[in-house]
Parts: sequence; C-alpha cells; structure tokens
Amino acid sequence: MGLLDGKVAIITGAGNGIGRAHALLFAKEGASVVVNDVGGARDGSAAGDTSAADAVVRELTQAGGKAVASHDSVATAEGADALIKKAVDTFGRVDILVNNAGILRDKSFTKMDEAMWDSVIAVHLKGTFLVSQAFVKQAIAQNSAGDPNERKGARIVNTTSVSGMMGNFGQANYAAAKAGIYGLTRTMSIELQKHRITVNALAPIAKTRMTEDLPMFHGVDTMTPEHISPAALFLASDLCGDRTGHVLAVAGARLYAFKIIETPGKFKDEASGVWTAQEIADNWDAIVKS
Ligand code: NAD
Repeated sequence: MGLLDGKVAIITGAGNGIGRAHALLFAKEGASVVVNDVGGARDGSAAGDTSAADAVVRELTQAGGKAVASHDSVATAEGADALIKKAVDTFGRVDILVNNAGILRDKSFTKMDEAMWDSVIAVHLKGTFLVSQAFVKQAIAQNSAGDPNERKGARIVNTTSVSGMMGNFGQANYAAAKAGIYGLTRTMSIELQKHRITVNALAPIAKTRMTEDLPMFHGVDTMTPEHISPAALFLASDLCGDRTGHVLAVAGARLYAFKIIETPGKFKDEASGVWTAQEIADNWDAIVKS
C-alpha cells in the first residue's frame, strides 16, 4: 500500500532537482504523476526543451509507475489550463498539486531591471496563482457531487523559500515572489477550507542546478532533493490531516517551520492622545518585544 494509491498528482517543474525527486517518490507511493516542465536553463532562457520532463516520465514508467509529461509553462493562463486538462484527459481527475517550478535571475537591487523582476514574479508567484486556480476549479467540480461525508478533499503544496521569509542579498525579485507565495498560501488555506482543500508550503534548501554554485554547497553532498520530498509527501498525503496554512522548512536532516509573529505590543492611555513619533522612538523596545 502506498500513501498516494489512486491519487493523481501534478508536479510543476518536475524535470529537474527537487520536482524530479518529488515525482519519483510520489510515483513510488502509488500516485499517477503529471510531470510538468517547460525545460530550459536556470534563468528561464531556452524554455521549450521537452527533454527534461520526458526523461523523468521515462524513468517513472520504466520503474512501473504511471506518468505523463506536460510541457506547458505555468506562467500563462493557457499553460495552466492545458496542464490541468492534461491531468484530467489522461488520469480522469486531480487530487494533488505541487507548485514547484522556478527560475532564478539574481542581481543586486539597484541593478535589477524590469525584465528580471517580471520573469521571476511570473513563474513563481503568478504561476502558483494560475495553476492553483485551475486546479481548484477542477477539484471542486469533481468532488462536489455525492454524499458530503464521502467527499474527498484535494491538497496543494506550494514552494516558498528562506529568501522569501527572511530576505537575501541579490534576490529582490525572487524574495518578493516567494514572500508573495507565503501570503497566497495563507489566504488560499483560509478560503479553501470549506472545500476540504489543504494548502501548505515547503521552504527547501537543497543542492540543485539552482543552488550548486552557492559557497554553502561547495563540497557538501548531504543536502539533496531527496531530503525534501518526504516533507512534500507528508503535506500531499492524508497523513497531513486537516493541517493547512503551514510552512515546513527542510535543509538536509533538519526539519523546522516558519511562522509570522505578532508581538503583544504596547497600549497607550487613550486619554493621552494617539502615539506620537517621538513616543514610538522612546518605546521602541517595548513595542517590538516578542
Ligand atoms: P531546478 O532549476 O533544478 O528546477 C526548477 C524546474 O522548474 C526546472 O526544471 C525548470 O525547467 C522548471 N521551470 C522553470 N520555469 C517553468 C515554467 N514557466 N513552467 C514549468 N516549469 C518551469 O531548481 P530546484 O532547486 O529544484 O527548485 C525547485 C523549487 O524549489 C523552486 O521553486 C525553487 O525556487 C525552490 N527552492 C529551491 C531551493 C534550493 O535550495 N534548491 C531553495 C528554496 C526554494
């Protein structure tokens, strides 16, 4: 018995790195997998190379799994719709979506041009929105018939990043996109609860073509995509239960979570008027103390 027996899972950006590892594990756990990847280089150039997704599909089917390739870009509404249609036409339904596709176009803030900003936001943030919306419409339509107690929910796993949670030098576009995915995850998790759809996010750190030239990965082979995929499997499987709106972070053997904190703050006596700028300066430590 696999954890995903009978489920149909769509994994975007599954031709390489972390997405490929997700696809291999999900298929091993019994899912029929739609391996989506537009191909191309780390910065999004030369997209349209179908070989990455096709190679992973070959790998999965040769191991006895069920898989189909999609070469659609997640960054357009047409691509998102075609991806969901491919899943339904091939496997009849959708159950799991992992939004994982990504590109990197780093530059320090003052040197970052509009095209670098637009392309990174389009793949990560807009792509997560477009594919999720098409997926959710299909999931609601297919799961709304029948006895409500028998209805199966669907599960979405988004991919954010430490960069989005904390900021990172040279990644204004990427950090903004990944922070946006955090806000999108939170809002989707709230709105989709009534449809029994869980929406969580992963914040991975792994050595892939996206990160291999970072100094922290030189000589390090212990932080692999295979460390990340069990966390995606947990969030995509019924082991996750009703948990929704969480960010699970994985770096090699370390598992942790990101949370936004709101400090208790400090109240001012109403009779003394609104806070003044000088009073904020004078009370800074008490206001931000957690
Ligand atoms: P990767 O470059 O190996 O894989 C990303 C895949 O996405 C590529 O195969 C690429 O072709 C595909 N892709 C790009 N644009 C696409 C589009 N428009 N439509 C469909 N597919 C597209 O990188 P990775 O390290 O495996 O990254 C996977 C995800 O994890 C990304 O969202 C990335 O931002 C995130 N992430 C990775 C790390 C890390 O340490 N590797 C850290 C934080 C977040």
